[in-house]
Amino acid sequence: MTQPAHKRRICSYDMAEVSPEGYVLAEEQGEMYFCDARCLCLWAVHFVTNPRRSEEQKRIACELTMPSGERRKFTDFIEAAQWSAANALQGDSNPWRENGIKVD
Ligand SMILES: [Zn+2]
Repeated sequence: MTQPAHKRRICSYDMAEVSPEGYVLAEEQGEMYFCDARCLCLWAVHFVTNPRRSEEQKRIACELTMPSGERRKFTDFIEAAQWSAANALQGDSNPWRENGIKVD
């Protein structure tokens, strides 16, 4: 059996090629890839503040895989965007870091 060619992962924010250490955001329609915390945050905030997106589109559950391999489940994109902002801004006191549930 030959292995399928390595699928290139393109960042949903800036269209750069994402290394295996990037972030992966999965929902039922598929997966999105992000270079780093900044690309993830900017894409997510842009998405949930976009007036052309319906409320339903913002309310889709998703699961994020981090560069460390740790996974986190969010009830919707808004929750994920808040977590992403806190993650990119750093600072452990941001309550949005507690958004979502860690997946074992
Ligand atoms: Zn990027």
